[in-house]
Amino acid sequence: MKKKISILGSTGSIGTQALDVIRNSKDFEVTALTANSNIDLLEKQIMEFKPKLVAVADNKKALELKKRMNLYDVEILAGMEGLLAAAREEECEIVISSIVGMVGLKPTLEAIKHKKTIALANKETLVTAGKLVIEEAKKNKVNIIPLDSEHSAIFQSLLSGKQNELNRIILTASGGPFRGKNKDQLNNVTFRDALKHPNWSMGRKISIDSATLMNKGLEVIEAKWLFDVDIENIDVVVHPQSIIHSMVEFVDGSIIAQLGPTDMRIPIQYALTYPQRKQNNVKKLDFSQIKALTFEQPDMDTFPCLKLAINALKAGGTMTAVLNAANEEIVKLFLNEKIKFNDIPMYIQRVMQYHNNIINPTLEDILQSDKWAREYIIAQF
Ligand code: NAD
Ligand code: MG
Repeated sequence: MKKKISILGSTGSIGTQALDVIRNSKDFEVTALTANSNIDLLEKQIMEFKPKLVAVADNKKALELKKRMNLYDVEILAGMEGLLAAAREEECEIVISSIVGMVGLKPTLEAIKHKKTIALANKETLVTAGKLVIEEAKKNKVNIIPLDSEHSAIFQSLLSGKQNELNRIILTASGGPFRGKNKDQLNNVTFRDALKHPNWSMGRKISIDSATLMNKGLEVIEAKWLFDVDIENIDVVVHPQSIIHSMVEFVDGSIIAQLGPTDMRIPIQYALTYPQRKQNNVKKLDFSQIKALTFEQPDMDTFPCLKLAINALKAGGTMTAVLNAANEEIVKLFLNEKIKFNDIPMYIQRVMQYHNNIINPTLEDILQSDKWAREYIIAQF
């Protein structure tokens, strides 16, 4: 029996790599696909993978795709309603949550409520509503299997001990394209410089987050919820080669790490085949080509976003949703050349400062806080 997979965000960096994993395996079939607006690519994906259901967030584009697919046996839906329908598609067993941004939260929750196993790439889901999402997953006995390379590494490393034997989690960070630079040197960098990640090729938003170290901050928050650890037991270490994808330390001082090539298809495949491992055609690691594995402290003075994320996690409540929303809007402004790189943390910090934090928020509180933070940023431009 083939495992039935739906991909939310199939046209993105993670989505297309997930389809590549599926293309190269006999174990999976695709039941639903979604995208924001790239219907040319969606059309190709429909032809190749023959999903039953496809959702396009953009209403006009959905209509256009519907016309194009007139003669095909595929249901085309539009908007958030369409995304939710794709998330709960009846036959699907595993939902790959790989939309970028907090817009992925509702579809991911919908999939959990319908007892789908979640292969989670969308970190914004846990950053904004980690407590609610984990509670909902427990209630529905749903497994959330991380796709993010660091969290997949931790998930795999944790298999060699028990939860009460865990001492700390050590998240590795590449340091991004600006590692080693100081604030002065970053004054005039552009989004094009920021998009040049040394080790990974990813979507634009996460690439900017990697340059500011916000990505690592979001990953600290994601780790807290996925693995039920306190912030005091999560360390970040910069490891520029990105060979060690993360580590865990047990109470006896033993450290278990997961290593591998910088290829997202490994964690994606593992999330789909878990608890098994399967052969693939990913290029294997050649240690004779690796000169050294090095480690250093993250530079939180030059890259304050990591600190802001840690502070938001310590504050709890709706603060992480506000951090995330402000960051999403600020990254858009930076990509549109409306603000400078060094101003990114300043704006996020300001929004956090003015937020009336709600501890133990409902989903509605979280969505309201998200909206408030976005409007706060947008009003300044
Ligand atoms: P991407 O920009 O390449 O793709 C995003 C996908 O989301 C696309 O399919 C797009 O159509 C869809 N989308 C965007 N806005 C939407 C909207 N408003 N409504 C519906 N769909 C929308 O992003 P990515 O790099 O693939 O990242 C996806 C998620 O995975 C992010 O949360 C990111 O942090 C996480 N992640 C990515 C990587 C990576 O290597 N790319 C690694 C780890 C985690
Ligand atoms: Mg990562």
